[in-house]
Amino acid sequence: MNTWLDIDKDSDFSIYNIPFGIFSVGDGSKKIGTRVGDQVVDLHAFASAGTFNDLNIDIEVFTSSSLNDFIALGKSKTNGVRLSIQAALQDESSVLKELNQAFIKTTDVQMHMPVEVKDYTDFYSSIDHATNVGIMFRDKESALLPNWKHLPVGYHGRASSIIPSGKNIYRPKGQMKPTDTPPVYGPCRLLDFELEMAFIVGKPTKLGQRICTANAMDHIFGMVLFNDWSARDIQKWEYVPLGPFLGKSFASSISPWIVTMEALEFAKVDGQKQEPAVLPYLQYEGPHNFDIKLDVGLTPQGEEETIVCGSNFKHMYWNMAQQLAHHTCNGCNVNIGDMMASGTISGPEEGSFGSMLELSWAGTKTIQLKGGEERKFVADYDTITMYGHAEKDGRRVGFGEVSTQVLPAL
Ligand code: MN
Repeated sequence: MNTWLDIDKDSDFSIYNIPFGIFSVGDGSKKIGTRVGDQVVDLHAFASAGTFNDLNIDIEVFTSSSLNDFIALGKSKTNGVRLSIQAALQDESSVLKELNQAFIKTTDVQMHMPVEVKDYTDFYSSIDHATNVGIMFRDKESALLPNWKHLPVGYHGRASSIIPSGKNIYRPKGQMKPTDTPPVYGPCRLLDFELEMAFIVGKPTKLGQRICTANAMDHIFGMVLFNDWSARDIQKWEYVPLGPFLGKSFASSISPWIVTMEALEFAKVDGQKQEPAVLPYLQYEGPHNFDIKLDVGLTPQGEEETIVCGSNFKHMYWNMAQQLAHHTCNGCNVNIGDMMASGTISGPEEGSFGSMLELSWAGTKTIQLKGGEERKFVADYDTITMYGHAEKDGRRVGFGEVSTQVLPAL
C-alpha cells in the first residue's frame, strides 16, 4: 500500500495498522483518533469530510470519550472505518490531503484510556513463565501444578487501576512477612513488572451464554501492551489460598492505541502442540498464536535505557480463543471493553523472561544496566517501557509503547 502521507518505514503505525485510541489537544475534549506515523488523525474531522458516508454511522460517535460505543457498532462498521481510512490515505485525489486540521503531531496530543474497562481478567498462559515461577517457589518436578495443562489458569483482577502509558505510579505499600520477624506494613521492596498483552472484548454475551473457540475471535476487538505491575513480597504473603490481591491491584499500565485483530491477521502463527490433549471445548482449528516481538526497557532517572528482556507473544501455550472459551464455559457473561491479559510472556531463553522475578531468579542474580547500576527489582524513579510489533514481508504493525515511571511511596 502506498500513501500520500510521509510515514517512516520503521514506524509501528504504518498504513497497514490504523489502530484506534482516545486523544485530546490542550484543554479540548476527548475524541476518537487513529495514528499514522508521527501523526494523530481526528476521525470526527475525517467523518465530517464524508470519509465514512458509505458506512451509515452517526458521526457523533467519534466525539465519544471512550471507544466503547464505537466498538459496539460491530466489526463490519469498525473495520469498515479502518478500510476507508486506508483507501483515503492511498487516494492521491482525496480531499483529506487538504484537511490540515485533522492531522495533529503526536507530541501535541494527550492520550487517554481507550476504553472504559468494565472487568479485567489476568491469565497465566506462558508455559515458560509458569515453569520458572513453579521452580522458584516449589521444585522442578512439581513446577507446573496438575491443572495447568488442562485449563488456562486465571484470576479476576481490578479494572479501576488500569492506567494509560505516561501516567506515573507510586510504589505500593502493603503487608509483608520477612523470613524471621512477624508481618510488617510498609513500602513494597520487591516491585516488579510483568510483560503481558491484553485483548479487549468487542462483542458482549448474555449471562448463561458460552463462546466457543471457533467464534471467539469475533468477540475480540483488538489488543494492547499490558504491564501488570506486581509487588512480589506483598503477593507472596497474601496469595494463599485465594490468589493474587493487593500485590497486583495497585496498577496495570497499557499502551494507548488498540491494534485491531484485522491488522494483526498477517502475524498469525501456529502454537505449540498441547500434550496431553485438551478437552473438546478447548480444542481449536488453525493458527491462533501471533508473532509479535516484545521488548522491555529499564531506564533509571537521568540515564540511558537498558533492554532487559526480549520476548515474543508467539510463545503462549494457551491462545486467546481458548482463554475466552474457558472464561465463558460456565456461562459468565462478557461486556464490551472487558480487558483480558495474557499473563507474563516469557520465552524459553534467559534473556526472554518477562519479569524481574525471573530475570533476577528471585533476587539471586543481578541485572547489569548500561549506566553501571545493577537491579534485582524495580527501583524508585525507574521507568519501565514495553514495546511490541509484528513485521513480515515489509509490513510492520506495532503498538508503540507503554511507559511508566515509579515514584516513591506516598
Ligand atoms: Mn499478571
